[in-house]
Amino acid sequence: EEGISVKEYADRLGLKAQEVIMKLMGMGVMVTINQPIDPDAAVLLAESLGIGVEVQSEESEDVLLGTEGEDSGQLVSRPPVVTIMGHTDHGKTTLLDAIRKSKIAEAEAGGITQHIGAYTIMEKDRNITFLDTPGHEAFTAMRARGAKVTDVVILVVAADDGVMPQTVEAINHSKAANVPIIVALNKVDKPEANPDRVMQELSGLGLIPEEWGGQTIYCPVSAKKRTGLDHLLEMVLLQADVLDLKANPDRRSQGVVIESKLDKGRGPVATVLVQNGTLRVGDFLVVGGNFGRVRSLINDRGQRVQEVLPSFPAEVIGLDGVPQPGESFVVVEDEKSGRQVAQSRSLKQRSAQMIRQKKVSLEDFYTQM
Ligand code: GDP
Ligand code: MG
Repeated sequence: EEGISVKEYADRLGLKAQEVIMKLMGMGVMVTINQPIDPDAAVLLAESLGIGVEVQSEESEDVLLGTEGEDSGQLVSRPPVVTIMGHTDHGKTTLLDAIRKSKIAEAEAGGITQHIGAYTIMEKDRNITFLDTPGHEAFTAMRARGAKVTDVVILVVAADDGVMPQTVEAINHSKAANVPIIVALNKVDKPEANPDRVMQELSGLGLIPEEWGGQTIYCPVSAKKRTGLDHLLEMVLLQADVLDLKANPDRRSQGVVIESKLDKGRGPVATVLVQNGTLRVGDFLVVGGNFGRVRSLINDRGQRVQEVLPSFPAEVIGLDGVPQPGESFVVVEDEKSGRQVAQSRSLKQRSAQMIRQKKVSLEDFYTQM
C-alpha cells in the first residue's frame, strides 16, 4: 500500500493542498499534490499544527526493515542484559570491575579486555551482558528515546550508608521501565555495615525481600573483596529464566547504540547492543539518521568478529556519522532503502530537536528549517 496522497491528507485535516505542499517544502520534503505523503512528515506536520494524528500502519518502514511477519518458531533464548545502578560511591564501578576481572580472566587467561561500553561474561556456561556506561546517564538517554535495553537492574546500595537520593532515582527509573531489580547490598566487609537496616529502608520503597514475604532478591556482596559475586550472578540468571528472554538470530538485526565516538583513524565508531537478529560484516545499517555498511565488528575482547548474536555488544565501524547513544539501529536490505529510512529519520530528529531546544512557535519552526 502506497499510503495517502498529499491531497487526501490535506482534505482530511481540513487544509489546503497548496498549504501542505509549502509546509512540507519548508521541512525539506518536495512533493506534488498527487504523490503519497511520507508517514513521518505527515505526523510531524500535523503535530506542528497541534493536530494529533495516528499512522494506521508503519508499513512503509516495516517493509524496508523487514520487521513484519516475525516467525515465533525461530525464537531462541538469549542472554540477559544488565545495568548496574545506584548512588555515587556505593560501589558501581568497583562491582563492574570485580565481575569483569574475576569472570573474564577466568575464562580466557591473558585475554585483552577493552572498554567498549559493555561486556559479556560467562557464568555456569551461560552468558550475561553488562552495560558499562554510567548507569543513570545511559538509562536516561535510552529511555528518552524510548529504547528498552536492560532486562535486569542491579541496584547497588552500600550497606554502611543506606538509601540515598540516586538510589530512589534508580528505583523510579527501573519501575517506569518495568525492569526487575536485584539489590546488591555492597560493602558488607565493613564493620559498620548494617544490611538489615538497608533492607528495611528499601522495603519502605516497595522492595520487600523474599525472606520477608516479598518479591525482591537481595544479595550481600563485597565488590572490593570480591565476595558474593557468584550468588549475585546466579540470581541474575534465575531472573532471566523467569523473564524467558528470547530473540530470533535468523532475522535481520536490530538493536541500540550504547556509546559512540569519532576515532581519528577509524572514523565514526558506535558500540551497539544487538537486540535481535545477527549483525554481520557487510550489512547495510541505518542508525538513527545515519547510514553505513558494516566494515568491521570488534567485540568486547578487542577481537575482530564476523557476526554478533542477540544480547552481545560490539563496536561497529563503517557508519557515515556518529550516532547518539540510545538511538536504535536496523539492518536493511540494500543501500537504497537504507538511505531512504535514514533520511526520513534525520528529518524527524532535526525537527524534534528544534522543538525541544526552544519552544518555537510554528512560524519560527518553518523559517528555521
Ligand atoms: P561508584 O561511584 O558507585 O562507581 O563507586 P565506586 O566503585 O567508585 O566506589 C566508591 C568507593 O567505595 C571506592 O573507594 C571503593 O574502593 C569503595 N568500595 C566499593 N565497593 C566496596 C566494598 O565492597 N567494600 C569496601 N570496603 N569498599 C568498597
Ligand atoms: Mg563509578
